[in-house]
Amino acid sequence: MVASDIRERMKLLAAKEIIHLGGGLPDPDIFPYAAVAAASDRIWSNPTLARTALQYSPSEGHGPLRAWIADYMTGIGAPCGVENILITSGSQQGLDFVAKLLLSPVDRAMVEIPSFIGALRAFDAYEPNYVGLAGGDPTGVKFCYAGPDFRNPTGTTMSLAEREDLLDMADASGMAILEDGCYERLRYDGQPIQSLLALACARHGSIEDVPVLYTGTFSKTIAPSLRIGWIAGPAAVIRKLVLIKQASDLATSALNQMLLLDVVQHHLADSTATACAAYRGRRDSMLEALAEHMPAGVRWTRPEGGLYVWVELPKHLDATRLTQRALAEHGVSAIAGAAFYPRGIPAERNTMRLSFSMIPSEPARQGVARLGALASEMLSS
Ligand code: PMP
Repeated sequence: MVASDIRERMKLLAAKEIIHLGGGLPDPDIFPYAAVAAASDRIWSNPTLARTALQYSPSEGHGPLRAWIADYMTGIGAPCGVENILITSGSQQGLDFVAKLLLSPVDRAMVEIPSFIGALRAFDAYEPNYVGLAGGDPTGVKFCYAGPDFRNPTGTTMSLAEREDLLDMADASGMAILEDGCYERLRYDGQPIQSLLALACARHGSIEDVPVLYTGTFSKTIAPSLRIGWIAGPAAVIRKLVLIKQASDLATSALNQMLLLDVVQHHLADSTATACAAYRGRRDSMLEALAEHMPAGVRWTRPEGGLYVWVELPKHLDATRLTQRALAEHGVSAIAGAAFYPRGIPAERNTMRLSFSMIPSEPARQGVARLGALASEMLSS
């Protein structure tokens, strides 16, 4: 295992006045503080709830929360019962558990390139050989990890046709799909596209027959510190994952699950709308700032949701050097794209990820302006 570039950098950032375009932390202004406080009051004023909240809870998860998530998944086109849901400590734990279940050393794991760094680090622990999704051969692949909506790090979204093609590949080859639904609710414009899990349920008639495991999270719509995520999939696989959960940490905190359930029952729609409104504005101003300040030859993605924009510099410009200089000399953090490449696959050197989630539009514009000026300087030297 190696230290995550992003986590290491966050320690450094805490120390200075920096314009944060690097890490993709949610904006703390959008957390539902009053709703969490009201949920807490309701738990402590009811002795039965209070006892449950401080007790060990079932490894599968708090029953009423599993039921709520099963209804939610059914509502987004993937008909589920509680037996199809395992609560995890954030969706990060779900990614780890699925890899623990399916991967042994030198097994093949297919991933999008570039991919979410946290997923790659989780998979690395099981020592797979990586294959890229685009044009990759699925023979012998245990699972394909895909983030279909506004993926981290590129902000791009899989079209319906690409989703159907991936499901065809899974059906033909026998590989599983690990779908990361982290950003699904953070859509700012364009039409929603059904998840791989929902499309697979429609194809196969029942969730019990699908090759897809879906990881979901409340980190982006409610708050990450509660550490509540879930895995949805066929009951037979969920039962195996429950054994992994038991062996790993017994259960996710009952208190956090109960707080979260109370908050989503009353406020999920409001919280999601608040988050989308805030991030939509920040995305728009970041895109405007890029258009205004980036020199010719620089390209970037235009995400319909999520938290990230992926910037492609001219081929000969080294983004690692640029992001190091941006931080040291101009007080701007951004993450060089090389961090998001799987082990053993050569990285493009000229890309970087910018996040518009953490700071308001004005300082973010200044940050982009400084990056643009630095890119111009490096191109002309
Ligand atoms: N998947 C993706 C694509 C992410 O970007 C993140 C965190 N930023 C996660 C999963 C993990 O989130 P959590 O464990 O908080 O649910």
